[in-house]
Amino acid sequence: MKREMICIGCPLGCQLCAKLTETGEFVSVSGNTCKRGAEYARTECTDPRRTLTTTLRCADGGVVAVKTEQPIPKDRLLEAMKQLNQMIVPLPVSIGDVLALDVFGSRIVACQNRQKG
Ligand code: SF4
Repeated sequence: MKREMICIGCPLGCQLCAKLTETGEFVSVSGNTCKRGAEYARTECTDPRRTLTTTLRCADGGVVAVKTEQPIPKDRLLEAMKQLNQMIVPLPVSIGDVLALDVFGSRIVACQNRQKG
């Protein structure tokens, strides 16, 4: 069987076509211009992951922009959001600060500076 997808590895957005066995195992890919596209197709067919970007509540009632340091399993994104919605971040926060150590295998890092008040 075949599965078509657009590579998100760069702005070119190559149209990929992955070939899978009847049981869904990855066999090959075509349409990629570089190795990153081949790796994206393999991962998307076997263990799809996404970088989660969101905001966390801060102690002053505002929010701070954050993201997962590594892509996490796509089917865990909602669960990760539920976990993160429970957090209240003490201020100040600087870009790159680690705000959680393990959310489905990734640290959560701040994407902006936030001062007290
Ligand atoms: S296959 Fe390579 S060139 Fe094409 S979109 Fe993906 S990363 Fe970009």
